[in-house]
Amino acid sequence: MIDIKSMTLQELKEDMEKLGEKAFRATQIYGWMHQKLVRSFDDMSNISSALKEKCKERYQYTTLKIVRMQESKIDGTRKYLFELHDGNVVESVWMKYKHGNSVCISSQVGCRMGCAFCASTLDGLERNLTASEMLDQIYSISLHTGERVSNVVVMGTGEPMDNYENLLKFLRLLTAEEGLHISQRNITVSTCGIVPKMRELAEEKLQITLALSLHATTDEKRKKLMPIANKYSIKELMEACRYYFEKTGRRITFEYSLVGGVNDTNEDAAELIALVNELNCHVNLIPVNPIKERDFVQSENEAIQAFKNKLEKNRINVTIRREMGRDIDGACGQLRRRHKEQSLQ
Ligand code: SAH
Repeated sequence: MIDIKSMTLQELKEDMEKLGEKAFRATQIYGWMHQKLVRSFDDMSNISSALKEKCKERYQYTTLKIVRMQESKIDGTRKYLFELHDGNVVESVWMKYKHGNSVCISSQVGCRMGCAFCASTLDGLERNLTASEMLDQIYSISLHTGERVSNVVVMGTGEPMDNYENLLKFLRLLTAEEGLHISQRNITVSTCGIVPKMRELAEEKLQITLALSLHATTDEKRKKLMPIANKYSIKELMEACRYYFEKTGRRITFEYSLVGGVNDTNEDAAELIALVNELNCHVNLIPVNPIKERDFVQSENEAIQAFKNKLEKNRINVTIRREMGRDIDGACGQLRRRHKEQSLQ
């Protein structure tokens, strides 16, 4: 079976021709899937029953099922747990901002990157998500909330650059004029720093924002938090970031999770400034969200403020990530994990 929601309009046109159908049928079906967001071939009212039957034989129609939804009483953030056709579950987050609604999606079931503070990686990687499974997280949320999604961040469970082909396909479909047509500038892809893929992405010359999870300023420290640091040095990462900026003109975001007593000192701030000073960038400080499987603690509020002030004094664009959905298992991979634990009991 062909995964029809992962096909570009051009691919679908070619495939419809193979079925002996006119190309405009592909345009109609594509519109039903990616603009009207219908959940099955049966909902496509201007498609004949005969063609619907042919489609059902040939294509798999991906839709995710909502198995849980938690809404924050503090800020209205919603966390969705979706079931995939094979029984695996993934989570996505819906956040309401003044400038529009944002969805944070997962790119893999689990993750094999092994970052020390992250809940998504505790059980390793199960499998990659297809483009249609990434898209349908957004489509399902849009239908469920009845609201338009204007921003998408690929910052949920998984390492997007470890699922590069599907990621690119997803980005093409999400930004296509004949689909939801989300502006490239409103999309952020976050990576732990897989250098060759960052460079490949730069070559695509997309207008999306690349976010790099830096979290430490020396290779030695970074290796303690992120195994990927054994493979690529900070120097190589910085060169890849510079390259991305040169190719796309897009300013890089550096994510820096502040872990109490680990990477939040005055000296760490000074080293971070020295690293990113030359680059056109934005630093996003994330007070670490402690997970029960590890004993990392959040930095003191004063340390967080002092860190931010020091960066600001050196004219670095810096924000502290607002904690959304504090009351609903906000940290990456926590909801999925809890669900799995409960199903085993
Ligand atoms: N694999 C991608 C996207 C994953 S998560 C990446 O590494 O960038 C998005 C961000 O949240 C990353 O910067 C990640 O390091 C960070 N993160 C994960 N768990 C966290 C936690 N418990 N507290 C704070 N930040 C966390």
